[in-house]
Amino acid sequence: MKRLQSDNSIYAFAPSMDPALTASPHETVIFETIDAFGGQIKTSEDKLENLDFSRVNPATGPLSIEGAMPGDTLAIHIEKIELPEQGAIVTGEGMGVLGDEVEGHVTKILPIRDGYVHFDDLKLPVSPMIGVIGVATGGKAFPTGSAHQHGGNMDTKEIGEGTTLYLPVFQPGGLLAMGDVHAVMGDGEICISGCEVSARITVKIDLIKGVSMRWPIVSREEGLYIVVSLPSIDDALHEATREAVLFLQDRRRITFAEAAMLASLAVDIRISQLVDPYRTVKAFIPREITGGELF
Ligand code: CA
Repeated sequence: MKRLQSDNSIYAFAPSMDPALTASPHETVIFETIDAFGGQIKTSEDKLENLDFSRVNPATGPLSIEGAMPGDTLAIHIEKIELPEQGAIVTGEGMGVLGDEVEGHVTKILPIRDGYVHFDDLKLPVSPMIGVIGVATGGKAFPTGSAHQHGGNMDTKEIGEGTTLYLPVFQPGGLLAMGDVHAVMGDGEICISGCEVSARITVKIDLIKGVSMRWPIVSREEGLYIVVSLPSIDDALHEATREAVLFLQDRRRITFAEAAMLASLAVDIRISQLVDPYRTVKAFIPREITGGELF
């Protein structure tokens, strides 16, 4: 099985990137990833303020997919996310939604055992997710800490095992990279981090020729999530809502007004994260409404 080790890492999704490895469509590939801190936080004494920020948010890759061309779509089936024995969460002054009320910098190490993340005496079931996953961009470069149409730091908790993530291809080969796994995270990621871990991710990648998308789409048993990331949460909410309505209009061949009504009845507009440079919103469309497969 092909494997990308974590020393193949990028810190920006750019239009031009050198592939670290090439795979064929339908091939299974393992990505070994380093946590969002670049592996610099190992104990509660390691604080965010002391990190070398040039090593923050590494994404393992890029992987070139044979035959992928601009205007195609990658279907990334996330088969397995293997976790280590501990993760870390940080917050501090000026960080996250309530950063103006937090004093100092705080790091907490969270043991991961028997399928649970341990927070003091509480046990939270693990729900592994990929925070950063994206492809080469069509225009300007985005740091791996940011997100846009190419994916990136979407911090969307539904990007986990059993999910298929669809990403638009902007450059030959697509050039896929990923990292920033969380063992568990709530919608909003309000303190600025989840349970940040290094991990081993197993994915199978398919190529859908001649189908282009404006924004990443997450497909799960319960339905689809259209994932929109923009500098302001208001703009992200508006665009995700509009994308869901356009999707329903196209899929069901109804008017825009009818699609807006259907969305008002059945679509959930949810927040993925409120703490990255671009905010992320997901429009959830239940499977009963989308009907069948996406493509
Ligand atoms: Ca993240």
